[in-house]
Amino acid sequence: MLVRTRLAPSPTGAMHIGSIAMALKNYVFAKKHGGQFILRIEDTDKTREVKNGVAQIMEALHAYQIDWDEGPDKGGPYEPYLQSRRLDLYRQYAQILIDRGQAYYCFATREELAEMRQKALAMGKPPRYDGRYRDYPREKAQARIRAGEKYVIRLKVPSHQEIGFTDLIRGQIKFNSDEISDQILIKSDGYPTYHLAVVVDDHLMKITHVMRGEEWISSTPKHILLYQAFGWKLPVFAHIPVFLNPNGKGKMSKRKGDVAALSFLQKGYLKEAVLNFLMILGWTPKDQREILSLTEYQQEFDLKDLSHNAVAFDIKKLNWLNGIYIRQLTDQQLTERLRPFIPEGFPQDKLEQILPLVKERLVTLADFDQLTRFFWQRMPVESAQLLKRATPNLVKKQLKLTLTGLSQLDQWQAATIEAIIRNLEIEHQWQRKQYFMMLRIAFTGSKATPPLFQTIAAIGKNESLARIKLLLDQEF
Ligand code: GLU
Repeated sequence: MLVRTRLAPSPTGAMHIGSIAMALKNYVFAKKHGGQFILRIEDTDKTREVKNGVAQIMEALHAYQIDWDEGPDKGGPYEPYLQSRRLDLYRQYAQILIDRGQAYYCFATREELAEMRQKALAMGKPPRYDGRYRDYPREKAQARIRAGEKYVIRLKVPSHQEIGFTDLIRGQIKFNSDEISDQILIKSDGYPTYHLAVVVDDHLMKITHVMRGEEWISSTPKHILLYQAFGWKLPVFAHIPVFLNPNGKGKMSKRKGDVAALSFLQKGYLKEAVLNFLMILGWTPKDQREILSLTEYQQEFDLKDLSHNAVAFDIKKLNWLNGIYIRQLTDQQLTERLRPFIPEGFPQDKLEQILPLVKERLVTLADFDQLTRFFWQRMPVESAQLLKRATPNLVKKQLKLTLTGLSQLDQWQAATIEAIIRNLEIEHQWQRKQYFMMLRIAFTGSKATPPLFQTIAAIGKNESLARIKLLLDQEF
Protein backbone atom coordinates (compact mmCIF):
# COMPACT_ATOMS: atom_id res chain seq x y z
CA MET A 1 0.00 0.00 0.00
CA LEU A 2 1.31 3.42 -0.93
CA VAL A 3 1.14 5.53 2.21
CA ARG A 4 -0.39 8.97 1.68
CA THR A 5 -0.80 11.48 4.49
CA ARG A 6 -1.97 15.04 4.47
CA LEU A 7 -2.07 18.30 6.32
CA ALA A 8 -5.40 20.03 5.85
CA PRO A 9 -5.15 23.48 7.40
CA SER A 10 -7.71 26.23 7.12
CA PRO A 11 -6.41 29.67 6.16
CA THR A 12 -7.74 31.37 9.26
CA GLY A 13 -4.63 33.16 10.48
CA ALA A 14 -1.03 32.69 11.52
CA MET A 15 -0.10 29.03 11.57
CA HIS A 16 0.02 27.55 15.08
CA ILE A 17 3.19 25.80 16.21
CA GLY A 18 1.00 22.74 16.83
CA SER A 19 0.26 22.61 13.10
CA ILE A 20 3.98 22.38 12.38
CA ALA A 21 4.19 19.46 14.81
CA MET A 22 1.29 17.84 12.98
CA ALA A 23 2.84 18.51 9.58
CA LEU A 24 6.12 17.04 10.78
CA LYS A 25 4.49 13.79 11.91
CA ASN A 26 2.50 13.43 8.71
CA TYR A 27 5.56 14.24 6.64
CA VAL A 28 7.96 11.79 8.29
CA PHE A 29 5.38 9.03 8.46
CA ALA A 30 4.80 9.24 4.71
CA LYS A 31 8.53 9.46 3.95
CA LYS A 32 9.38 6.60 6.28
CA HIS A 33 7.08 4.40 4.23
CA GLY A 34 8.20 5.74 0.89
CA GLY A 35 4.89 7.53 0.51
CA GLN A 36 3.60 11.02 -0.17
CA PHE A 37 2.63 13.98 1.93
CA ILE A 38 -0.10 16.24 0.61
CA LEU A 39 -1.01 19.81 1.49
CA ARG A 40 -4.69 20.54 1.10
CA ILE A 41 -6.25 23.84 2.01
CA GLU A 42 -9.63 23.64 3.69
CA ASP A 43 -11.11 27.00 2.86
CA THR A 44 -14.81 26.32 2.94
CA ASP A 45 -15.58 28.68 5.79
CA LYS A 46 -15.30 32.02 4.08
CA THR A 47 -16.30 33.91 7.23
CA ARG A 48 -13.15 32.82 9.07
CA GLU A 49 -10.70 33.17 6.21
CA VAL A 50 -7.96 35.81 6.42
CA LYS A 51 -6.20 37.59 3.59
CA ASN A 52 -3.02 35.79 2.50
CA GLY A 53 -4.04 32.86 4.67
CA VAL A 54 -2.79 30.27 2.18
CA ALA A 55 0.49 32.11 1.68
CA GLN A 56 0.97 32.25 5.45
CA ILE A 57 0.53 28.49 5.73
CA MET A 58 3.05 27.78 2.98
CA GLU A 59 5.51 30.31 4.36
CA ALA A 60 5.44 28.73 7.82
CA LEU A 61 5.91 25.21 6.44
CA HIS A 62 8.77 26.35 4.23
CA ALA A 63 10.40 28.17 7.14
CA TYR A 64 10.57 24.82 8.92
CA GLN A 65 11.65 23.08 5.74
CA ILE A 66 8.66 20.82 5.52
CA ASP A 67 7.86 20.19 1.90
CA TRP A 68 4.87 18.51 0.29
CA ASP A 69 4.54 16.32 -2.78
CA GLU A 70 1.19 17.66 -3.93
CA GLY A 71 -0.48 20.91 -3.01
CA PRO A 72 -2.18 24.08 -4.22
CA ASP A 73 1.05 25.52 -5.62
CA LYS A 74 2.42 22.29 -7.02
CA GLY A 75 -0.68 20.61 -8.35
CA GLY A 76 -0.78 16.84 -8.55
CA PRO A 77 -2.94 13.98 -9.80
CA TYR A 78 -5.92 14.93 -7.61
CA GLU A 79 -5.91 18.68 -8.06
CA PRO A 80 -7.17 21.19 -7.22
CA TYR A 81 -5.90 21.10 -3.63
CA LEU A 82 -7.93 24.09 -2.56
CA GLN A 83 -11.40 23.09 -1.39
CA SER A 84 -13.02 26.29 -2.59
CA ARG A 85 -12.15 25.14 -6.10
CA ARG A 86 -13.82 21.77 -5.66
CA LEU A 87 -17.33 22.96 -4.81
CA ASP A 88 -19.03 21.18 -7.72
CA LEU A 89 -17.51 17.94 -6.60
CA TYR A 90 -18.97 18.18 -3.10
CA ARG A 91 -22.39 19.00 -4.54
CA GLN A 92 -22.16 15.97 -6.81
CA TYR A 93 -21.37 13.71 -3.89
CA ALA A 94 -24.12 15.21 -1.75
CA GLN A 95 -26.47 14.54 -4.66
CA ILE A 96 -25.46 10.88 -4.70
CA LEU A 97 -26.53 10.58 -1.09
CA ILE A 98 -29.79 12.43 -1.78
CA ASP A 99 -30.52 10.04 -4.66
CA ARG A 100 -29.86 7.07 -2.42
CA GLY A 101 -32.09 8.44 0.33
CA GLN A 102 -29.13 8.82 2.69
CA ALA A 103 -29.31 12.59 2.74
CA TYR A 104 -32.17 15.06 2.53
CA TYR A 105 -33.04 18.70 1.99
CA CYS A 106 -33.90 20.68 5.10
CA PHE A 107 -35.70 24.02 5.19
CA ALA A 108 -35.70 24.64 8.94
CA THR A 109 -35.41 28.35 9.59
CA ARG A 110 -33.12 30.02 12.07
CA GLU A 111 -36.10 30.53 14.39
CA GLU A 112 -37.08 26.88 14.20
CA LEU A 113 -33.55 25.82 15.01
CA ALA A 114 -33.40 28.20 17.96
CA GLU A 115 -36.67 26.78 19.24
CA MET A 116 -35.37 23.20 18.96
CA ARG A 117 -32.30 24.19 20.88
CA GLN A 118 -34.32 25.77 23.67
CA LYS A 119 -36.65 22.81 23.92
CA ALA A 120 -33.77 20.39 24.19
CA LEU A 121 -32.04 22.52 26.81
CA ALA A 122 -35.25 22.83 28.81
CA MET A 123 -35.41 19.03 28.90
CA GLY A 124 -31.79 18.91 30.01
CA LYS A 125 -30.66 17.37 26.74
CA PRO A 126 -27.85 18.43 24.45
CA PRO A 127 -29.20 20.78 21.78
CA ARG A 128 -29.70 19.08 18.47
CA TYR A 129 -31.66 19.12 15.27
CA ASP A 130 -34.86 17.08 15.65
CA GLY A 131 -34.90 15.53 12.20
CA ARG A 132 -38.15 17.20 11.11
CA TYR A 133 -37.32 17.12 7.38
CA ARG A 134 -35.93 13.58 7.35
CA ASP A 135 -38.95 12.12 5.63
CA TYR A 136 -40.15 15.17 3.76
CA PRO A 137 -41.20 14.14 0.23
CA ARG A 138 -38.44 14.81 -2.28
CA GLU A 139 -40.80 16.27 -4.94
CA LYS A 140 -42.12 18.84 -2.49
CA ALA A 141 -38.57 19.75 -1.48
CA GLN A 142 -37.51 20.16 -5.08
CA ALA A 143 -40.49 22.40 -5.80
CA ARG A 144 -39.53 24.65 -2.86
CA ILE A 145 -35.96 24.82 -4.12
CA ARG A 146 -37.15 25.73 -7.62
CA ALA A 147 -39.23 28.48 -6.04
CA GLY A 148 -35.98 29.90 -4.65
CA GLU A 149 -36.24 28.85 -1.02
CA LYS A 150 -33.02 28.46 0.97
CA TYR A 151 -32.08 24.99 2.14
CA VAL A 152 -29.29 22.85 3.53
CA ILE A 153 -28.52 19.20 2.83
CA ARG A 154 -28.32 16.92 5.84
CA LEU A 155 -27.07 13.41 6.35
CA LYS A 156 -29.71 10.91 7.43
CA VAL A 157 -27.89 9.47 10.44
CA PRO A 158 -29.15 5.94 11.13
CA SER A 159 -30.50 5.40 14.63
CA HIS A 160 -29.27 2.98 17.30
CA GLN A 161 -26.08 2.12 15.51
CA GLU A 162 -22.74 1.58 17.09
CA ILE A 163 -19.94 3.34 15.27
CA GLY A 164 -16.54 2.07 16.17
CA PHE A 165 -13.06 2.59 14.88
CA THR A 166 -9.56 1.75 15.95
CA ASP A 167 -7.46 4.79 16.52
CA LEU A 168 -3.79 4.06 16.06
CA ILE A 169 -2.93 6.00 19.21
CA ARG A 170 -5.97 5.59 21.39
CA GLY A 171 -7.15 2.14 20.44
CA GLN A 172 -10.79 1.17 20.14
CA ILE A 173 -13.22 4.10 20.18
CA LYS A 174 -16.99 3.67 20.12
CA PHE A 175 -19.87 6.06 19.61
CA ASN A 176 -23.59 5.50 19.35
CA SER A 177 -25.23 7.07 16.32
CA ASP A 178 -28.05 8.35 18.54
CA GLU A 179 -25.57 10.87 19.96
CA ILE A 180 -25.08 12.36 16.51
CA SER A 181 -27.62 14.67 14.95
CA ASP A 182 -28.25 14.80 11.22
CA GLN A 183 -25.13 16.59 10.06
CA ILE A 184 -25.29 19.40 7.55
CA LEU A 185 -23.34 18.40 4.45
CA ILE A 186 -24.05 21.40 2.22
CA LYS A 187 -24.71 24.77 3.83
CA SER A 188 -27.29 27.26 2.62
CA ASP A 189 -24.55 29.23 0.81
CA GLY A 190 -23.83 26.15 -1.30
CA TYR A 191 -20.52 25.44 0.42
CA PRO A 192 -19.87 22.04 1.90
CA THR A 193 -19.27 21.62 5.62
CA TYR A 194 -15.89 20.45 6.85
CA HIS A 195 -17.32 16.96 7.42
CA LEU A 196 -18.41 16.38 3.83
CA ALA A 197 -15.40 18.03 2.23
CA VAL A 198 -12.83 16.26 4.38
CA VAL A 199 -14.30 12.83 3.69
CA VAL A 200 -14.74 13.36 -0.05
CA ASP A 201 -11.22 14.72 -0.39
CA ASP A 202 -9.47 12.19 1.80
CA HIS A 203 -11.15 9.48 -0.25
CA LEU A 204 -10.53 11.01 -3.68
CA MET A 205 -6.96 11.96 -2.80
CA LYS A 206 -6.33 8.38 -1.65
CA ILE A 207 -5.24 9.38 1.84
CA THR A 208 -4.36 6.21 3.74
CA HIS A 209 -3.61 7.70 7.18
CA VAL A 210 -5.53 10.58 8.69
CA MET A 211 -3.36 11.99 11.46
CA ARG A 212 -4.78 15.05 13.11
CA GLY A 213 -5.27 16.76 16.43
CA GLU A 214 -7.37 14.99 19.01
CA GLU A 215 -9.88 17.84 18.94
CA TRP A 216 -11.24 16.16 15.82
CA ILE A 217 -12.05 12.86 17.54
CA SER A 218 -15.69 13.74 18.06
CA SER A 219 -15.99 14.49 14.33
CA THR A 220 -14.65 11.11 13.33
CA PRO A 221 -17.91 9.12 13.84
CA LYS A 222 -19.63 11.63 11.53
CA HIS A 223 -16.95 10.97 8.97
CA ILE A 224 -17.27 7.23 9.39
CA LEU A 225 -21.01 7.48 8.77
CA LEU A 226 -20.20 9.29 5.54
CA TYR A 227 -17.62 6.69 4.48
CA GLN A 228 -20.24 4.04 5.14
CA ALA A 229 -22.95 5.90 3.25
CA PHE A 230 -20.68 6.17 0.22
CA GLY A 231 -19.44 2.60 0.64
CA TRP A 232 -15.81 3.71 0.87
CA LYS A 233 -12.93 2.10 2.70
CA LEU A 234 -11.90 3.85 5.91
CA PRO A 235 -8.43 5.34 6.23
CA VAL A 236 -6.41 4.66 9.36
CA PHE A 237 -7.15 7.29 11.98
CA ALA A 238 -4.63 8.61 14.49
CA HIS A 239 -5.62 11.43 16.80
CA ILE A 240 -2.64 13.19 18.23
CA PRO A 241 -2.74 14.76 21.69
CA VAL A 242 -2.69 18.53 21.88
CA PHE A 243 0.00 20.63 23.54
CA LEU A 244 -0.67 22.10 26.94
CA ASN A 245 0.63 25.44 28.17
CA PRO A 246 4.18 25.28 29.57
CA ASN A 247 2.81 25.01 33.11
CA GLY A 248 0.94 21.86 32.08
CA LYS A 249 -2.46 23.49 32.51
CA GLY A 250 -4.95 24.05 29.73
CA LYS A 251 -4.61 23.72 25.99
CA MET A 252 -1.77 25.82 24.63
CA SER A 253 -3.49 28.98 23.56
CA LYS A 254 -2.90 32.38 22.09
CA ARG A 255 -3.91 34.08 25.30
CA LYS A 256 -1.00 32.57 27.19
CA GLY A 257 1.66 33.69 24.73
CA ASP A 258 2.66 33.66 21.16
CA VAL A 259 1.88 30.33 19.55
CA ALA A 260 2.45 31.32 15.94
CA ALA A 261 4.93 29.00 14.23
CA LEU A 262 6.91 31.86 12.71
CA SER A 263 7.18 33.79 15.96
CA PHE A 264 9.56 31.17 17.36
CA LEU A 265 11.98 31.84 14.54
CA GLN A 266 11.53 35.58 14.98
CA LYS A 267 12.36 35.17 18.66
CA GLY A 268 15.66 33.58 17.76
CA TYR A 269 15.00 29.87 17.97
CA LEU A 270 16.71 27.80 15.29
CA LYS A 271 14.34 25.84 13.10
CA GLU A 272 16.27 22.61 13.68
CA ALA A 273 15.99 23.08 17.45
CA VAL A 274 12.24 23.72 17.24
CA LEU A 275 11.79 20.69 15.00
CA ASN A 276 13.82 18.52 17.37
CA PHE A 277 11.73 19.84 20.24
CA LEU A 278 8.49 19.03 18.41
CA MET A 279 9.80 15.53 17.69
CA ILE A 280 10.34 14.69 21.34
CA LEU A 281 7.15 16.28 22.66
CA GLY A 282 5.13 13.20 23.50
CA TRP A 283 7.56 10.77 21.90
CA THR A 284 11.00 9.42 22.71
CA PRO A 285 13.12 7.08 20.64
CA LYS A 286 13.83 3.64 22.06
CA ASP A 287 17.18 4.67 23.56
CA GLN A 288 15.59 7.75 25.19
CA ARG A 289 17.97 10.21 23.57
CA GLU A 290 16.65 13.67 23.04
CA ILE A 291 18.82 15.05 20.28
CA LEU A 292 17.99 13.70 16.88
CA SER A 293 18.07 14.76 13.29
CA LEU A 294 15.17 14.70 10.89
CA THR A 295 16.61 11.63 9.16
CA GLU A 296 16.94 9.77 12.44
CA TYR A 297 13.45 10.80 13.43
CA GLN A 298 12.12 9.57 10.13
CA GLN A 299 13.74 6.19 10.68
CA GLU A 300 12.69 5.76 14.27
CA PHE A 301 9.33 7.48 14.58
CA ASP A 302 6.37 5.21 15.04
CA LEU A 303 2.88 6.51 15.57
CA LYS A 304 2.17 3.72 18.02
CA ASP A 305 4.77 5.09 20.42
CA LEU A 306 3.18 8.52 20.67
CA SER A 307 1.98 9.53 24.10
CA HIS A 308 -1.78 9.19 24.66
CA ASN A 309 -1.68 12.13 27.01
CA ALA A 310 -1.49 15.79 26.22
CA VAL A 311 2.03 17.10 26.76
CA ALA A 312 3.18 20.42 28.17
CA PHE A 313 5.00 22.72 25.79
CA ASP A 314 8.09 22.82 27.94
CA ILE A 315 9.86 26.05 26.95
CA LYS A 316 12.81 25.23 29.22
CA LYS A 317 13.52 22.18 27.16
CA LEU A 318 13.24 24.17 23.95
CA ASN A 319 15.72 26.69 25.36
CA TRP A 320 18.12 23.91 26.28
CA LEU A 321 17.87 22.36 22.83
CA ASN A 322 18.31 25.71 21.15
CA GLY A 323 21.55 26.28 23.05
CA ILE A 324 22.82 22.90 21.95
CA TYR A 325 22.01 23.58 18.31
CA ILE A 326 23.56 27.03 18.47
CA ARG A 327 26.80 25.56 19.79
CA GLN A 328 26.85 22.98 17.04
CA LEU A 329 27.14 25.73 14.44
CA THR A 330 30.53 26.94 13.31
CA ASP A 331 31.22 30.62 13.99
CA GLN A 332 30.66 31.32 10.35
CA GLN A 333 27.31 29.52 10.26
CA LEU A 334 26.27 31.25 13.46
CA THR A 335 27.19 34.63 12.00
CA GLU A 336 24.86 33.95 9.08
CA ARG A 337 21.99 32.98 11.37
CA LEU A 338 22.59 35.98 13.59
CA ARG A 339 22.36 38.57 10.81
CA PRO A 340 18.74 39.58 11.48
CA PHE A 341 19.47 39.87 15.20
CA ILE A 342 22.55 42.08 15.06
CA PRO A 343 21.48 45.59 16.03
CA GLU A 344 22.21 48.63 13.98
CA GLY A 345 25.43 50.28 15.08
CA PHE A 346 27.12 47.05 16.10
CA PRO A 347 30.82 47.19 15.15
CA GLN A 348 30.92 44.53 12.44
CA ASP A 349 34.73 44.46 12.47
CA LYS A 350 34.61 43.15 16.02
CA LEU A 351 32.08 40.41 15.38
CA GLU A 352 34.69 37.73 14.83
CA GLN A 353 36.35 38.56 18.13
CA ILE A 354 33.16 38.91 20.15
CA LEU A 355 31.14 35.97 18.84
CA PRO A 356 33.23 33.18 20.43
CA LEU A 357 32.96 35.02 23.75
CA VAL A 358 29.15 34.89 23.85
CA LYS A 359 28.40 31.74 21.89
CA GLU A 360 28.27 29.65 25.06
CA ARG A 361 25.72 31.92 26.63
CA LEU A 362 23.25 32.37 23.80
CA VAL A 363 19.93 30.71 24.57
CA THR A 364 18.27 32.27 21.56
CA LEU A 365 19.77 34.31 18.75
CA ALA A 366 17.88 37.30 20.09
CA ASP A 367 20.03 37.21 23.25
CA PHE A 368 22.98 38.37 21.18
CA ASP A 369 22.09 42.03 21.49
CA GLN A 370 21.78 42.06 25.25
CA LEU A 371 24.91 39.93 25.72
CA THR A 372 27.09 42.10 23.52
CA ARG A 373 25.85 45.64 23.89
CA PHE A 374 28.46 46.64 26.46
CA PHE A 375 31.23 45.81 24.00
CA TRP A 376 30.33 48.86 21.96
CA GLN A 377 28.11 51.00 24.14
CA ARG A 378 28.70 52.46 27.59
CA MET A 379 26.28 50.98 30.05
CA PRO A 380 25.27 52.63 33.31
CA VAL A 381 27.46 51.59 36.23
CA GLU A 382 25.82 51.43 39.64
CA SER A 383 28.10 52.68 42.38
CA ALA A 384 26.61 50.25 44.88
CA GLN A 385 27.81 47.41 42.65
CA LEU A 386 31.19 49.00 42.15
CA LEU A 387 31.72 49.48 45.86
CA LYS A 388 30.75 45.99 46.92
CA ARG A 389 33.11 44.69 49.60
CA ALA A 390 35.33 47.76 49.33
CA THR A 391 35.62 51.37 50.42
CA PRO A 392 35.38 54.20 47.88
CA ASN A 393 39.04 54.97 48.49
CA LEU A 394 40.13 51.45 47.73
CA VAL A 395 38.07 51.32 44.53
CA LYS A 396 39.47 54.66 43.41
CA LYS A 397 43.00 53.47 44.02
CA GLN A 398 42.36 50.24 42.15
CA LEU A 399 40.90 52.10 39.19
CA LYS A 400 43.75 54.61 39.10
CA LEU A 401 46.47 52.00 39.20
CA THR A 402 44.69 49.85 36.65
CA LEU A 403 44.41 52.85 34.35
CA THR A 404 48.09 53.63 34.67
CA GLY A 405 49.06 49.99 34.16
CA LEU A 406 46.88 49.43 31.14
CA SER A 407 47.82 52.77 29.54
CA GLN A 408 51.36 51.48 29.14
CA LEU A 409 50.31 48.51 27.04
CA ASP A 410 51.30 48.59 23.38
CA GLN A 411 49.79 45.24 22.63
CA TRP A 412 46.13 45.25 23.65
CA GLN A 413 45.53 41.56 24.12
CA ALA A 414 43.84 39.42 26.74
CA ALA A 415 47.19 37.96 27.85
CA THR A 416 48.96 41.29 28.26
CA ILE A 417 45.95 42.82 30.01
CA GLU A 418 45.81 39.84 32.32
CA ALA A 419 49.49 40.16 33.24
CA ILE A 420 49.05 43.80 34.29
CA ILE A 421 45.93 43.15 36.32
CA ARG A 422 47.26 40.05 38.07
CA ASN A 423 50.49 41.86 38.96
CA LEU A 424 48.55 44.69 40.55
CA GLU A 425 46.45 42.25 42.52
CA ILE A 426 49.53 40.46 43.91
CA GLU A 427 51.55 43.59 44.49
CA HIS A 428 48.82 45.26 46.55
CA GLN A 429 47.40 42.09 48.05
CA TRP A 430 43.93 42.95 46.91
CA GLN A 431 41.18 40.43 47.27
CA ARG A 432 40.92 38.90 43.85
CA LYS A 433 37.18 38.35 43.95
CA GLN A 434 36.44 41.94 44.86
CA TYR A 435 38.98 43.47 42.45
CA PHE A 436 38.01 41.40 39.43
CA MET A 437 34.29 41.87 39.98
CA MET A 438 34.78 45.59 40.48
CA LEU A 439 36.65 45.74 37.15
CA ARG A 440 33.97 43.74 35.41
CA ILE A 441 31.33 46.20 36.62
CA ALA A 442 33.52 49.17 35.77
CA PHE A 443 34.09 48.06 32.18
CA THR A 444 30.69 46.58 31.36
CA GLY A 445 28.13 47.68 33.93
CA SER A 446 27.25 44.02 34.33
CA LYS A 447 28.05 41.23 36.75
CA ALA A 448 27.71 38.50 34.16
CA THR A 449 30.03 38.80 31.17
CA PRO A 450 32.40 36.62 29.20
CA PRO A 451 35.91 36.11 30.70
CA LEU A 452 37.18 39.43 32.00
CA PHE A 453 40.47 39.86 30.12
CA GLN A 454 39.02 38.85 26.79
CA THR A 455 36.14 41.19 27.37
CA ILE A 456 38.47 44.13 28.06
CA ALA A 457 40.49 43.18 24.99
CA ALA A 458 37.41 43.22 22.81
CA ILE A 459 36.21 46.56 24.13
CA GLY A 460 39.46 48.06 22.80
CA LYS A 461 42.18 50.18 24.38
CA ASN A 462 40.86 53.70 23.90
CA GLU A 463 37.35 52.86 24.92
CA SER A 464 38.43 50.80 27.95
CA LEU A 465 40.66 53.56 29.28
CA ALA A 466 37.96 56.15 28.60
CA ARG A 467 35.47 54.14 30.66
CA ILE A 468 37.81 54.08 33.67
CA LYS A 469 38.58 57.77 33.37
CA LEU A 470 34.91 58.54 33.27
CA LEU A 471 34.38 56.66 36.52
CA LEU A 472 37.30 58.36 38.20
CA ASP A 473 35.80 61.71 37.31
CA GLN A 474 32.62 60.80 39.16
CA GLU A 475 31.84 61.14 42.85
CA PHE A 476 31.38 57.85 44.59
N1 GLU B 1 -9.37 21.89 8.36
C1 GLU B 1 -9.12 21.18 9.58
C2 GLU B 1 -8.13 22.03 10.37
O1 GLU B 1 -8.10 23.18 10.17
C3 GLU B 1 -8.58 19.83 9.25
C4 GLU B 1 -8.80 18.79 10.29
C5 GLU B 1 -8.41 17.45 9.74
O2 GLU B 1 -7.20 17.22 9.64
O3 GLU B 1 -9.29 16.67 9.40
O4 GLU B 1 -7.39 21.57 11.20
